[in-house]
Amino acid sequence: MFYLNQRTIYKKTSINGIGLHSGDFVSITLKPAKANSGIIFIKNGVKIPAHINYAKGFEFSTTIENQGEKVQTIEHIMASLYLLGIDNLIIEINGDEVPILDGSASEFINLIKKVGIKTLNEEKVYAVLEKDIYVEDKDKFIEAFVSDEPIFTFEAKYNNQIIGNKRFTFNQFKDNYNLVSPARTYCFYEEVEFLKSLGLAKGGSLENAVVFKEETVLNPEGLRFDNEPVRHKLLDLIGDLYLLGYPLIGNIHSFKGGHALNAKFVRKLIEENAFSLKKANEISLRKNIKVA
Ligand SMILES: [Zn+2]
Repeated sequence: MFYLNQRTIYKKTSINGIGLHSGDFVSITLKPAKANSGIIFIKNGVKIPAHINYAKGFEFSTTIENQGEKVQTIEHIMASLYLLGIDNLIIEINGDEVPILDGSASEFINLIKKVGIKTLNEEKVYAVLEKDIYVEDKDKFIEAFVSDEPIFTFEAKYNNQIIGNKRFTFNQFKDNYNLVSPARTYCFYEEVEFLKSLGLAKGGSLENAVVFKEETVLNPEGLRFDNEPVRHKLLDLIGDLYLLGYPLIGNIHSFKGGHALNAKFVRKLIEENAFSLKKANEISLRKNIKVA
């Protein structure tokens, strides 16, 4: 959806659950925020802006940090906010990691829709890509092309038959968010012990992740989409791109990219002055976009 105005939520709301990696039980409280304030986490009284300048860790999740206070696994709630067109929000958290809930963005979206989305009396600002950008890491890359619409593609290449060589494309102006929001995080049974030896995935279970054992899905309910893993990787990409601080308009194609490459891409956009900030009216007039 294309939004003309900035958005926040109507009133505060909370949700809790365990962190995927820490296994800790954590509560988050979302609060309305004023126009042009952005997405800000608050932990132990310290503000941690959800911005690439504060992004510190990218091992199997995205972590932000300020003044020694860290918040891990922010990518799914960030994707939810992007998909709902929320520009301004305070997220208070009483632990180190955002709850994983069902492993997707669905529960964050339901929570926000339940309290309602408030339109603010201030125009929305978009980051419009002005030149093509390419980043790579070994066999992975992200390429971005100038476009009138925010079009995101994730392309996977696995030897695994189920995940296989699949790609999925999402257009934020035209497609319904529920094409990507219910897609859950996933892992391979064979790597669970390795992740645990790194101190990761302590809260992981079939309740919050799809687990593949060779060519089979261990979750009794099966997959939500036949290409659920690629859709989830796209959700992660969308969440990480929102660390730019503004919704990006461009045609972005990730080939096997993960959190670290997503962050490298966002940093390069800033270093190369690859985008310009434009108010929504300017974009809708120029491109004759249908307005929500
Ligand atoms: Zn994820």
